[in-house]
Amino acid sequence: MKQNNSNICIACQEAITNPVCQDCLEEEIETWLKKREPKLIPRLRKQTEEFKAITTSQDSVPCIFCKNDMNSCAYCYTGFIEEWLRKKHPRLVPEFKLFFDFG
Ligand SMILES: [Zn+2]
Ligand SMILES: [Zn+2]
Repeated sequence: MKQNNSNICIACQEAITNPVCQDCLEEEIETWLKKREPKLIPRLRKQTEEFKAITTSQDSVPCIFCKNDMNSCAYCYTGFIEEWLRKKHPRLVPEFKLFFDFG
C-alpha cells in the first residue's frame, strides 16, 4: 500500500483516472468567471493556493495537459471550489456545477 500509490488522490484516496491539474482547471474556471463575476478571480486564485497547500505530497502524476506534477483529483479540487462558492456566492453554484461537476 505504500510505495507506488502515486496515482492516488491525496485528498479522497481514490485513483486519479483523469489527471487534470488545479492550474489547468483553474484556467477554465477563470474563463467562466471572466464572463460571470470577474472580480472573483483573485479570490479563486487564493482558493486554489489553499487547496494546493493542503494537498502537497511527494507522490504525483503528470497532468495530461501541461505535464505538471499533481497529486489530487479534479473532483476534489472542483469540490473545494464549489464549497467556497456555496458559502460566498451561492447563486453561481448551479452554473458552476453545470460546467465543472466531475462527480
Ligand atoms: Zn480526490
Ligand atoms: Zn495541468
